[in-house]
Amino acid sequence: MKFTPAKPPLTGETLDSLAEKLRAGGEPAFRAKQILEWVYKKRARSWDEMTNLSKPLRTWLDQNFDLMPATLVFNQQSHDITDKLLLELGDRSLIETVIIRAPQEGVGLDHSRKTICISTQVGCAMACVFCASGLAGFKRDLNAGEIVAQLLQVCYREDALTPRAHSELASFDNIVVMGMGEPLANYDALLRALAIINASWGLGFGARRITISTSGLVPKILQLAEEELGFRLAISLHGATDEVREKIMPVNKAYPLAKLLPAVKAFSEKHGRMVTLEFILIDSVNDSLEQAQLLRDIARDLHAHVNLIPYNTVEGLPWKRPSITRQERFADILRDARLSVTLRREKGHDIDAACGQLRLKTEKERTATAAV
Ligand code: SAH
Repeated sequence: MKFTPAKPPLTGETLDSLAEKLRAGGEPAFRAKQILEWVYKKRARSWDEMTNLSKPLRTWLDQNFDLMPATLVFNQQSHDITDKLLLELGDRSLIETVIIRAPQEGVGLDHSRKTICISTQVGCAMACVFCASGLAGFKRDLNAGEIVAQLLQVCYREDALTPRAHSELASFDNIVVMGMGEPLANYDALLRALAIINASWGLGFGARRITISTSGLVPKILQLAEEELGFRLAISLHGATDEVREKIMPVNKAYPLAKLLPAVKAFSEKHGRMVTLEFILIDSVNDSLEQAQLLRDIARDLHAHVNLIPYNTVEGLPWKRPSITRQERFADILRDARLSVTLRREKGHDIDAACGQLRLKTEKERTATAAV
């Protein structure tokens, strides 16, 4: 289902596209830079804050653009480590944006490293059997403005918590495109959004600090390898053989390992940076020692980093995480091969941090309320 907003979101405009629209509306094009400075550097929340613009121009802008296409519905915190923003879009769709804080020794949470996890679709069509995002199916793609708006909402929140002397800076360290949706299935909007996030007139955020995670859309991985901006890539592998992967990820039928792995290798060689292989550990599904050995061989061949993630249980789904001992035994096979491996001590388990869970719960509550 396609969503056409009444007014296009300002956060989906590039410097050039905004200048062009201003020109067409009879306004001087140089105003585009001033407007975007208000949005991304000064974090203006209303047109009236843009005091170096004339009143008629502010009225024109209000008539022609939606300043912020995502409004904060609520904010859920877990032990000060994971902060989850539930955002509502123009058509009442809900999306999630997560702030993950990694506390550093000797400094307060204010100075912790922050990774922001953003969504690219409402729901998801990939139908991975273990994932909450796909449970209610696919609703629609996000537009570029809605993707960018998630990061501005994070900036608003962080600015309020820790006003910085240089408030122009983005207040986080990394962006991971690992929220709801399959990012590479919404390629054009994603790339437009990331260009805005990266641009000096936008958030000025380095491409090397942005990781795109995919379930394995091979043609799009190859396309991404050709992009000028060098984003990092993470692959949701979750199975070291077609047999195991196919059971839990339907995408493996179209793009089995024999197609996926060479594409990952091509990407990695082009970029000269390590790709990350994500591997959720699900009890009795993909956590055998044989899978560990095969994963080790794949990672070695690709010079890839391996991120092991104990499965987050999802209400209504039967899957469980393996015991800690089993997780460690799996990890040891990779560690013994001197591979770069992390076994995620996962954060936010208590606040439905696994993608799609908070939204799903809220959607269910809405349906229940509507039925009363
Ligand atoms: N569609 C993209 C990005 C979104 S999912 C992708 O597949 O990579 C982000 C990551 O969370 C993926 O690796 C996904 O497999 C994983 N994931 C989904 N549900 C999970 C759960 N319940 N517990 C742990 N990880 C989960």
